[in-house]
Amino acid sequence: MKIDDIVGHNEQIEQMINAYRSDRLAHAYLFYGPDEIGKKTVAKAFAQYVFCENSSGSSGNAGDSCSFCAPCRKIQAGNHPDMLIISPEKSVIKIDMIRDLQRKLQYGKYEAKFKFCIIDETEKLRVEAANALLKTLEEPARDTVIILVTSKINMLLPTIVSRCQKLRFNPLKDADITGELIRRYALGGDEAQVISAFLQGSFAKIEYSDFSKIIQLRRELVKRVKEASLNNLAGIISFSNELSGSDKELLVQTIEIIKTFYRDAAMLQTGLKDDLINKDIVKDIMRISSRLTKDELFEKINIMNQIQSSVMANVNKRLAVESMMIELCT
Ligand SMILES: [Zn+2]
Repeated sequence: MKIDDIVGHNEQIEQMINAYRSDRLAHAYLFYGPDEIGKKTVAKAFAQYVFCENSSGSSGNAGDSCSFCAPCRKIQAGNHPDMLIISPEKSVIKIDMIRDLQRKLQYGKYEAKFKFCIIDETEKLRVEAANALLKTLEEPARDTVIILVTSKINMLLPTIVSRCQKLRFNPLKDADITGELIRRYALGGDEAQVISAFLQGSFAKIEYSDFSKIIQLRRELVKRVKEASLNNLAGIISFSNELSGSDKELLVQTIEIIKTFYRDAAMLQTGLKDDLINKDIVKDIMRISSRLTKDELFEKINIMNQIQSSVMANVNKRLAVESMMIELCT
């Protein structure tokens, strides 16, 4: 990925590029901050920037990586010999994986200026593996940059943390996310704000899931909630059928969206109109709000939470969808 395609984290990226351009790259970095906000993406995009034949690294200008030269393509395909990425297997990083890394580091770089090593979810290092890694950090190989990535810095050995230059990553600002949603998905400002509220500072959720599907789903849900009543049985059954066929992740998202309808209806009753998530459908939220008491609204949210848990626990999807639709209609 190019640096320009990263959403947010401008300060951190600038700091890395400045260090690189002034020949002050540290041997080891620790990228830490909440889950799924783009720490590893920044690490990879930075390596691509350094390796690229057409970025500032080779031509002296401040440009981004080109994404089409041979090194860029190798990084994108995950087969650049100077780019090593370690991720946990079955939730652990074993000592063998660190030993293997040490062997590869010994041989030095092949074709790039540096050898990059990214260790993802560093908190999952086993104790022996952490101790082995500590040795590598204490006696760094030449022209090697190791980037440790973690969302749980407190779980790392203090000796590892102290050997790294720390870079803190923060959740993305709503304005960053909203702007990007408008740019990528051509959403209106109101809808972009609604969707950004779901993302809670993480753009990765968009990159990992088919987000246009979720936008579409919400539009569909808004329509269905308007029609939802026991008088419209045919509509309800056909929607249930569609939803039962969708994957778990999408179903969990659906329930998440429905929960915000009830949450907003409760907000309206408290007079907190400015804090609504679904600002683009205030009239529909008002209708829900006038139909149910505050207690009933919270009870609905509770039930939705339970249905959501059962979906995540792989309970019969059709059953979950049916209970959800009954709740929507009553
Ligand atoms: Zn390139």
